[in-house]
This record gives sequence, C-alpha cells and structure tokens, in this order.
Amino acid sequence: MSTTRSLESRIWFTEVALGEYDVRGVLVVGDERALVWDTLSHPRDMSRYPPLIGDRELVIAYSHADWDHIWGTAGLPHQGAVVLGHRSCLTRCVGDVPVTLREKQAAEPVAWDDVRIVAPNRVFDGETSVELGSMTVTLHHLPGHTRDSIVAFIPERGLLLMGDAAETPFPVVPEGSPLAKWIAGLQRWEGDARVRTVVPAHGAIGGREILRRNILYLQGLRDGNPVEATDPLSDFYRHTHESNLRAACQWGQTRPGGPASAGRV
Ligand SMILES: [Zn+2]
Repeated sequence: MSTTRSLESRIWFTEVALGEYDVRGVLVVGDERALVWDTLSHPRDMSRYPPLIGDRELVIAYSHADWDHIWGTAGLPHQGAVVLGHRSCLTRCVGDVPVTLREKQAAEPVAWDDVRIVAPNRVFDGETSVELGSMTVTLHHLPGHTRDSIVAFIPERGLLLMGDAAETPFPVVPEGSPLAKWIAGLQRWEGDARVRTVVPAHGAIGGREILRRNILYLQGLRDGNPVEATDPLSDFYRHTHESNLRAACQWGQTRPGGPASAGRV
C-alpha cells in the first residue's frame, strides 16, 4: 500500500508500508528532467509518478541498493533513463541484490514476480550533480549504513534527502560500519546552514535536528556509551538497537584500543 503526496512545489514523496516499517522515496520535477530518488520496494509503488513526470527526461537515483529502495524501477518508463548510483551500488546489483530477490521470491511465490533489478548505468565515487532545469540535485557519497549509501541535496530548496544515512529514531548500523566516516559525513550536513528540510527514507521528515540525533546516537555507539531511547520503540527499532549495540561491540573489539566493552550488550 503506497501513498503519494506533495511535499512542496514540484516535489512529491511516496510512502510504502512494509509491515515492520515504512519507506519513503521522492520525486523532483524540474523544467526539463525529473529525478526519482529511490524506486522503493515494488513496481506498483511507482504508479503515481508517470503522469507527474510527463514527457520530461527521467533520471533515477538510488540512495543505496537495499531491496526496499530499488525494486520498483520496472514501474517507471526507465528504458533510456539515466540510472545513477554509487560505484559500489552497481557492484551490489550483481552481487547481494539478486540473492535477496531470489530469497524473497522463494519465500513468497508470485508476490515479487514483477520486480526487475535495474542496475545503475551511471556511477560516481565522491559526488556528482544533475541539472533538472530550475532545480539542481547534487549527490554525495555518505557510507556507513551501507558502503554504497549516498545523500541528495537540492540547494534551491534547502532539501536534503538522506536515504538510510539518517533515520528516525536512529539508523541501522551494520557490523564493520565506518562509524567515524559516517559521523563526519553527517556533521558536514548538520553544519550546513543551507539545509532546511531533512527527508530520511524511514521516519519523520524534519530539520537538521534529525542529523544531530543520528550523530549523537552513532557517537554513543562509537564511545561505548549508547544513547537509550526516551520514547517507546517499535519492535523493529528495539531489535535494531540491540543489533546496533552488538555491531558496535564487534567494532570495538576489532579496533585496537577501541573503547567499546562487551559488558554493555
Ligand atoms: Zn531502508
């Protein structure tokens, strides 16, 4: 079940309920080109976009290659479209992504038959930009949640699209995550006064306080002094917090002189 709503002039977002959590993608429509930020979990999630895109050139950008962000591409007129992603997003599209799709298809026959993995056909390492006509989207590598994670910034609107690099209440941290790099990447945006609106793929839309909270959470993991939630957590985030603590513990044990201790898990 998906809903598409206007965020501001020429910018829409689509939210899909996936059971344990929701995921959000964004459509940015310029004069000449339209950019879809994540195609979400299934081609049907994209059903509202084609009329909004009209006859503009289509550009698709993947925040990262996790299944709930890139499996809807076949629902768009993507033939001939530029599909942008980090270089390692392309690697994942011929690596773990088809494995996950086969697993889901085996677990739920028919449900995922329409999904086609459409890999990026234009990749970048550090950053790149796309001119949409009266709006620009700049894309920036921000690894941590995954190695291929990127964020998108629209300077004309002060709008920062995070993918899973930041979320509410906190991000999903894998084992071996480069926490220092991730924190530094978030701090860079948190200190950027141009950023007015922060749109994570999971959790509430807000301002730079979302970045601040994610930074504090990751710093807590890094320093062995985890931030405990004050609000009640959903089952998904309760389990995520436990697994984040385990991941940070692994990280502390493998890092020479790392401060994390097994005692807090
Ligand atoms: Zn996600």
